[in-house]
Amino acid sequence: MANPVLPSSGVLSPLGLDAVRLNPGFWGDRAALNREVTIAHCVEWEEREGWIPNFRGVRPRRGREFSDSETYKLLEAMAWADHPGLPALAETVAQAQEGDGYINTRWSGSRYTDFEWGHELYCYGHLIQAGVARLRMHGEDRLTQVAVRAADHVCRRFMEGTETCGHPVIEMALVELYRVTGVERYLEMARRFVERRGLPALADIPFGRAYYQDDIPVRQAQVFRGHAVRALYLASGVVDVAIETGDQELLKAVEEQWERTIARRTHLTGGMGSRHIDESFGEDYELPPDRAYNETCASIASIMLAHRLLLATGDVRYADLAERTMYNMLATGVALDGKSFFYANPLQVRVPATPLEGVNHAAEGGLRSPWFDVSCCPHNIARTLASLPAYVATSSGDGIQIHHHMPSEIRHDGLAVRVETGYPWKGSVSVRVLEGGAGRIGLRVPAWATDATLARVPVSSPDAPLEESPAVRPVDPGYAYVEGPWRAGDEIRLELPMAPRWTFPDRRIDALRGSAAVERGPLVYCAESVADEPPLGDLTARVQPPVEHEADGAVELEVEASLGSGDGGGWPYAPASNGRVSSADVTLRLVPYHRWGNRGPATMRVWLPI
Ligand SMILES: [Zn+2]
Repeated sequence: MANPVLPSSGVLSPLGLDAVRLNPGFWGDRAALNREVTIAHCVEWEEREGWIPNFRGVRPRRGREFSDSETYKLLEAMAWADHPGLPALAETVAQAQEGDGYINTRWSGSRYTDFEWGHELYCYGHLIQAGVARLRMHGEDRLTQVAVRAADHVCRRFMEGTETCGHPVIEMALVELYRVTGVERYLEMARRFVERRGLPALADIPFGRAYYQDDIPVRQAQVFRGHAVRALYLASGVVDVAIETGDQELLKAVEEQWERTIARRTHLTGGMGSRHIDESFGEDYELPPDRAYNETCASIASIMLAHRLLLATGDVRYADLAERTMYNMLATGVALDGKSFFYANPLQVRVPATPLEGVNHAAEGGLRSPWFDVSCCPHNIARTLASLPAYVATSSGDGIQIHHHMPSEIRHDGLAVRVETGYPWKGSVSVRVLEGGAGRIGLRVPAWATDATLARVPVSSPDAPLEESPAVRPVDPGYAYVEGPWRAGDEIRLELPMAPRWTFPDRRIDALRGSAAVERGPLVYCAESVADEPPLGDLTARVQPPVEHEADGAVELEVEASLGSGDGGGWPYAPASNGRVSSADVTLRLVPYHRWGNRGPATMRVWLPI
């Protein structure tokens, strides 16, 4: 079972890379580009920046204290992609492992002297995740030996005591290693790391202990807080521990934290994290579009968490959030060439960024960069796209569920189906049975799809006009089920309404008052202005049905708006609401948010003043 997450219990069981294959389409194309371009790009830059040479003992050592973790994420991506470069890179990494299993190119010689910022256990977490991926895709080899030796070292060194790491991730890694090996000490070590947090286990720092979720025990927290990637990686590990230990209270705690975070601390794109200074969640409703941080890695961590909660509970809202985040964050994080990346993903950019050839030393959003000093995001995108088939579908005792509609082939228990769709541009999804079998098939109907229909077209009458067929029925958001048994040639047709829609923010999100955004299907749209196009600063849009047109294989939209011009004076405040000096009516072009920034430096806004 080739999955990044394989719980031993839960409402749904994931189908892995051995059961789901992506065909060309929105995601299949991205997965192929990732395999062919992005992975090689990461190898090239890691060699150039010295991160791989660090393992060969090249000194002075280069890169940040956690750069080993990037090589491990790259190995994980290679493992899922069955990349031929893996054995050689694993051999390079293995050279740096010490006799007792310790491995870290930064801290060798001064082990475990900085739990707050040292990231040693964090690095092990990514190494172990790479090892788990390799075990599930291939079986034991050099990489899996290195990962298991490191995990055994961690258990010997940390089973007793109160220590933990400033950056979570080892928790979920150890649980997954337990799941694949059956060795219980890995689970127990993960459980202890979870329970130590918040006692507290780490020193206080200027950001406060909430920065690394060490302010209160996990069970007592009400909401995700602090550094967004840390918070979401920890929560993912907590769900894993809760599932394997049968700790319902712990699972419930994360579900409630997720609830409140979604209701009050999540951007329209699914992005999380409002503050740049410590890459953290803001307070409730602190969701400014221009100062949104929304690290690409936080969105990937959110997808990982939502996937775990979906498997545990079967609640469709987790799949809805994962989809929103996949189309508007994961797809945004990498350019259409597969070689440049966003780190931060604001919802408004006021000043066009300056193009960069080399390493981007800042993480600010504006223009995708080939590399960063902290290049977590490119590697995280690479390993996520390489394992994406594992997020598409699940099984339960009574059949399969398709959560994400993408061209693919899905096999389970003798049943094989092919999904064909032009989603997210088109709303028609066809599920054709290739090999018959039993069980019902569930299709996710997203929350926004309030007028969806579903038809079962038996193999004997494939050309029956659907409009006259009694088999067409309206379906509500959630899961629409069609009962088996199935014969080869049977088809299910799902029609999702794809008309563009205006979306309005909660009034308590002060920064968004008086504005609205446009969505179509799972996609959030934005206005973008490059070079000599009119600037978007003083914009007022009219809330009327947007006009659609196709461009470059995508769907773009147009809305009517007026643009102000001229300078209001030297002081931007007045006793009465100030009017415009002059304004002009324009037709405003909206592009999918994930495609913004592909035409060069631009200003951009998702939320349009109305
Ligand atoms: Zn990142």
